[in-house]
Amino acid sequence: MKMQAEDRLWELLNDIDDYLEGGFRRPHASPVRLPVSSAAAPSANSRGGSVETARGPSPAAAEVAAAGETEAGAPEAAELLDPAERKRRLSELAARVTACTHCKLHKTRRKAVPGMGVIDPLVMVIGEGPGADEDASGLPFVGRAGQYLDKWLEAIDLSRHKNAYIANIVKCRPPNNRDPEPAESEACFPYLMEQIALVRPKTILTVGRVASQILIGRFDSIGSLRGRVYQFSGIPLVPTYHPSGVLRNPGYRRPVWEDMKLLRSILTR
Ligand code: SF4
Repeated sequence: MKMQAEDRLWELLNDIDDYLEGGFRRPHASPVRLPVSSAAAPSANSRGGSVETARGPSPAAAEVAAAGETEAGAPEAAELLDPAERKRRLSELAARVTACTHCKLHKTRRKAVPGMGVIDPLVMVIGEGPGADEDASGLPFVGRAGQYLDKWLEAIDLSRHKNAYIANIVKCRPPNNRDPEPAESEACFPYLMEQIALVRPKTILTVGRVASQILIGRFDSIGSLRGRVYQFSGIPLVPTYHPSGVLRNPGYRRPVWEDMKLLRSILTR
């Protein structure tokens, strides 16, 4: 069973041409919503390797989240809320994101991209920000890179439709796909903290340098950060390359495969 999954993932990672030409697409679930809590905290290793504590990126935003202060003024801990209430708050959050003007990215977006998936997921995937396809659809990771990401998840029995949630550091597309500016990431970070608290993921998978650096709180290359487990607010966090980077550089497929196995090892222990 284990080997079948590993073989399947490796095949998928080597099957880029097929899926690029095939236009693999899935139906999309409705976006969910969220509240707040937590600051980063250390914890035990998940696989006998090194485990590090992620401190979170924008300290000011993290402090707000740690205090449990949502824009809706709901200070109660998300863990006290039942699933229906957490879904309702995620919907409220999505509405706030859609109308948000807290940073200049609202001026150039077509649609804000709050996030999508299920609550209590096995994994919450966090990228840096929407691209052109996401900006047009209002849904995260639906372009080529997103379809590739779906295959990574599928290879270890994860799906945004049944046991995963997907979001980004910034909810509006940075022009020309540039990196989010620090002020933009900081302005948007409370939304992500709300999402994490409401969604309550078992693990976090950060994809790409920007999201990994921000959540881990270290500004090393993704090649240096990946390959180990961190902790973010007590949640095991595995960083890996961004699927778009792997599409450009097939040499990243092997480390991604290792990172997905690492993630799976946490989920199955
Ligand atoms: S990126 Fe975030 S903070 Fe900036 S306008 Fe969009 S939702 Fe608001």
